[in-house]
Amino acid sequence: GRAPKKSRQPEKIKSRKGNTVGFKDPGSSQDIPKEVPYLLIGGGTASFTAFRAIKSSDPTAKVLIVSNEPYFPYMRPPLSKEIWFNPDRDVAKSLTFKQWNGSERSLFYEPEDFYIHCKDLLESENGGVAVARGWSIKRLDVLNKVAVLDDGEQVKYEKCLIATGATPRLTPVFEVALADENLRNNIKLFRNIDDFKDVFEAFEAAKAVAVVGGGFLGSELACAFGRRDHKKLKVIYQIFPESGNMGKLLPEYLSMWTSEKVRAEGVQVVPKTEIVGAKAKNDQVELTLSSGKTLLVDFVVVSVGVEPNTELAETSDLEVDPELGGYLVNTELQARTDLYIAGDCACFYDPRLGRRRIEHHDHAVVSGRLAGENMAGARNPYLHQSMFWSDLGPEVGYEAIGIVDSSLPTVGVFAKQSVNDTPQAVVEKTDEFDRSKTEQLPQECEKYLSEEEKSKLKDSKKLLPNPIDGEDYGKGVIFYLRDDVVVGIVLWNVFNRMSIARQVLKDQKKYDDLNEVAKLFNIHGE
Ligand code: FAD
Ligand code: NAD
Ligand code: NAD
Repeated sequence: GRAPKKSRQPEKIKSRKGNTVGFKDPGSSQDIPKEVPYLLIGGGTASFTAFRAIKSSDPTAKVLIVSNEPYFPYMRPPLSKEIWFNPDRDVAKSLTFKQWNGSERSLFYEPEDFYIHCKDLLESENGGVAVARGWSIKRLDVLNKVAVLDDGEQVKYEKCLIATGATPRLTPVFEVALADENLRNNIKLFRNIDDFKDVFEAFEAAKAVAVVGGGFLGSELACAFGRRDHKKLKVIYQIFPESGNMGKLLPEYLSMWTSEKVRAEGVQVVPKTEIVGAKAKNDQVELTLSSGKTLLVDFVVVSVGVEPNTELAETSDLEVDPELGGYLVNTELQARTDLYIAGDCACFYDPRLGRRRIEHHDHAVVSGRLAGENMAGARNPYLHQSMFWSDLGPEVGYEAIGIVDSSLPTVGVFAKQSVNDTPQAVVEKTDEFDRSKTEQLPQECEKYLSEEEKSKLKDSKKLLPNPIDGEDYGKGVIFYLRDDVVVGIVLWNVFNRMSIARQVLKDQKKYDDLNEVAKLFNIHGE
């Protein structure tokens, strides 16, 4: 029989709201290589870093990325921070942001011409990376090392990485609301560039908005909204069940103090509250709170956490961690022979701190790099602790490492904040917004102190005792303990000290006096 005529127009890529945001590129899977040495599933940070690591071990490697987004790989952190402070109204088009020190950067890791067209990848003499955009992988045949595209075509691989990231979660109330045609446009999720464009546009027109969730995304976005509305013409609510912002992470006293900082950005913070109902009222949405009160807003951003994207587990016989979620992998990030997992969707074995799943940028970088090295022939274990950071505007920020969970016992040591102790100041000094990179800048890296330096520090300055009510938590160090061993550290408005924190975690010692350990961070100095 005759083959059916293929339509010329490539398939549309739809946003989560069903709008067309691009076209599959290449338009036909005939232009996607049938067999590649390296296949990376997902076009996010973990995949892109894996590509870089493969390229440095195997300089002529040919790497195919399959990404279901219409964009080339980009970073997400500025989407809830710096990009909102770009006074340029075209920012949603240019997708550039100003770092806190004013210098301009793009969200994209590389410009378009860095990438090879899918159909040219195998012929390319020097190798490189091609990105099939708008395509997804639906199933893997792990035994035969074959990946199946959404149109049923197959790609054979030698080594494969799954780095599919995570998708925003919904509470039952918002699940119902999102399915309601009259409400759909008032309910926003926030993960990617198209979500940013949607929320950015809606914010310009809005008079009242609500952010639901008190974690990273909710707190950063609420602060960004507050700053952007510098004329204070809008009402911005942030509603969450904990007693303060970042309550799952910070000890309660610091979390409540942080909420005061968020309020100072112009946000009406509503703690200890859940949303029990949402209904359409004209073009707006009326939220019913657990307190019985109602709020009328133009839109709600639901930021109540994410679910790792592990759909491939069901179709491909892969194992998912029943508690933490994510594909189970070993310390070398292997799920099966020649199959690796990195980033948000990996549940890996950390030989020091146990089984973990981490949803942060630097972990995506560290695990993506490790997976890439191992795919190219190394056999390295996950030993380098990743870090993370969060900024609540240019003046309050923190960096953290290890297991940082407010249900653990903590010890905090604080000092007075100076103008030098802000995210803006650190970016001004280093010209680098990405603090997993600031750490690596040689001039900024603090070496773990020698015995001599330690004793010098000891008699230098007196430290404050443990926090008491009403104290100013301008800057400090918070230790998180498990069985009396430090398993996590938050550096609160304290920057460029991560290598010291990393060393303290590595030591796994029981300390009699954490005030002594705090001195290593020299928080009273400049
Ligand atoms: P992702 O970046 O999610 O990439 C996965 C990609 O795979 C996506 O493009 C997805 O669409 C695609 N995909 C999924 N399934 C398939 C499939 N079957 N086939 C093909 N493609 C598929 N972390 C920090 O440490 N600091 C911050 O300041 C910070 N800020 C953030 C701000 C925002 C707004 C958001 C959303 C996150 C932020 N994070 C931050 C978290 C950080 O961005 C994530 O941890 C990181 O992006 C994870 O990288 P990843 O590569 O694992 O996944
Ligand atoms: P603008 O006055 O049009 O800015 C619009 C709004 O965005 C203002 O409220 C401004 O304070 C705020 N804003 C601008 N850049 C910001 C940033 N990076 N972080 C937080 N808020 C930011 O345009 P503009 O000239 O960029 O800003 C006005 C003033 O804000 C200047 O004095 C500038 O130095 C200062 N500012 C700059 C930074 C920075 O690092 N670029 C940070 C904070 C404030
Ligand atoms: P999160 O896990 O940080 O926070 C979840 C929050 O949801 C909780 O703090 C709680 O307040 C709220 N919540 C949970 N159940 C709820 C319920 N039933 N009703 C109301 N609220 C409820 O997740 P997020 O803030 O949504 O962030 C999304 C993802 O993006 C996460 O993976 C996060 O790590 C990542 N992210 C990271 C950063 C950063 O590292 N600086 C910044 C932005 C986003």
